[in-house]
Amino acid sequence: MEKNVTIVGAGLVGSLLSIYLAKRGYKINIYERRADMRKIKMNAGKSINLALSDRGWRGLAGVGISDEIKKIAIPMYGRQIHHKDGTTVFQKYGKDEQAIYSVSRAEINMRLMDLAEQQKNVKIHFDKRCSHINRATLECEFINDSTQQTVKQNADMIFGADGAFASSRLNMQLSSDRFEYNQHYIDCGYKELIIPPGAGEKFLLEKNALHIWPRGSFMMIALPNLDGNFTCTLFLPFAGERSFKNLQTKDAVSKFFNEEFPDAVPLMPTLLEDFFANPVSSLVTVKCFPWTFDNKIALIGDAAHAIVPFYGQGMNCGFEDCVVLNELIDKHKEDWNKIMPEYQNLRKPDGDAIADMAIANFIEMRDKTADPKFLLQKKIEAKFSQKYPDKWIPFYSMVTYSPHIRYSTALQEGTRQQAIMDKVMALPGIEKNWESEEVEKKMLDYL
Ligand SMILES: Cc1cc2nc3c(=O)[nH]c(=O)nc-3n(C[C@H](O)[C@H](O)[C@H](O)COP(=O)(O)OP(=O)(O)OC[C@H]3O[C@@H](n4cnc5c(N)ncnc54)[C@H](O)[C@@H]3O)c2cc1C
Repeated sequence: MEKNVTIVGAGLVGSLLSIYLAKRGYKINIYERRADMRKIKMNAGKSINLALSDRGWRGLAGVGISDEIKKIAIPMYGRQIHHKDGTTVFQKYGKDEQAIYSVSRAEINMRLMDLAEQQKNVKIHFDKRCSHINRATLECEFINDSTQQTVKQNADMIFGADGAFASSRLNMQLSSDRFEYNQHYIDCGYKELIIPPGAGEKFLLEKNALHIWPRGSFMMIALPNLDGNFTCTLFLPFAGERSFKNLQTKDAVSKFFNEEFPDAVPLMPTLLEDFFANPVSSLVTVKCFPWTFDNKIALIGDAAHAIVPFYGQGMNCGFEDCVVLNELIDKHKEDWNKIMPEYQNLRKPDGDAIADMAIANFIEMRDKTADPKFLLQKKIEAKFSQKYPDKWIPFYSMVTYSPHIRYSTALQEGTRQQAIMDKVMALPGIEKNWESEEVEKKMLDYL
């Protein structure tokens, strides 16, 4: 029997999920709060971009659309670190061909919506904000915020894919007994800025790199866009000496940027304008449980597990939710009474693990990428892993390039590796003899 599915949210995950389910013959109605972004002109310089890595590609490949998305993606083979004295150094992410890909959030969302609508059994309804879900009848109510008109939709199943501040989750929270909910804001906000292209759409920084200006308690990053510009994101504490609070005047902003990011300033002709025009946004981690109700309603993507962006994994994790769900549909032959419990039991530990890793990676990006001891550790690990690939997969590679390793397993293994590396880095003279056989032997012993 054909099943009717309501998806709340036509963001990245809701759109991809609709393709997975439509290909199995489900009839999908997606309701999206915003207007159709394909019909609205985006403001120049307002694009946010995301790093797409192997877990995300696997999610796209599962419905045969990775080639379509590759057309709008720029490979980044490593981090280009910008020191305060203006020098730069390139740190490769993995093996030569390994890359993460910069995609514009709006571009990929629009492509995913196009691809979803190419399925004859998917319909996206725009300007419809979910205002209520009746869990007993599976009826959702949507409101058009401009006209105040409401519509109702019945379904056999509902997926809440409405992002970090999901109303579908709130609905479960308010009407469930013992719904676990934890929301944590970090003390740092972010602001988008821009490095525009040079003449002839020339990239003014290395195109195939993720640029980082690590400065200890804060940092700026820049990712390339197809039209030659870079979206920069400044991550900075809300309060304190170096903080958004202390950047209230043009002079203060100029002084701060000239001191901290001197090589970027000449490339940012609209810095002051952008700084005062663009908002400071906050960064939240959301953990909750259960993710399903009555085996008929499920949360997916950020609605189930919003994380901070420092591992570049939020979207990738949401796409992986779709992969896992799809595998479970096969495994349980569409028996949703078995799929739903296994989906949440499998994914919850992985969502928690990547949430914790993302927080930890903030410290790595803003601080350790400029620390010689940390860089030496990475060199030792890379050398060891090259020689013993079956004994040591570097932590970053497990998370980013190993979609068959669960996030929770990567976290466990990474913790074990760090304990080993703490001992290795404490060996006398490690700075000089890190390439010696003795160090290699020690590592083998510690394993
Ligand atoms: C600064 C920043 C950088 C990031 N960088 C990366 C990165 O490099 N790599 C990565 O993988 N991830 C990154 N992320 C995370 C990534 O953006 C999210 O994980 C991803 O967008 C989640 O997709 P989603 O579909 O679950 O939610 P969203 O993309 O948020 O989509 C939710 C959709 O639901 C709609 N909606 C909301 N409420 C309602 C409602 N009541 N009714 C109807 N519709 C509703 C919204 O309008 C939206 O379209 C980053 C996030 C931030 C903030």
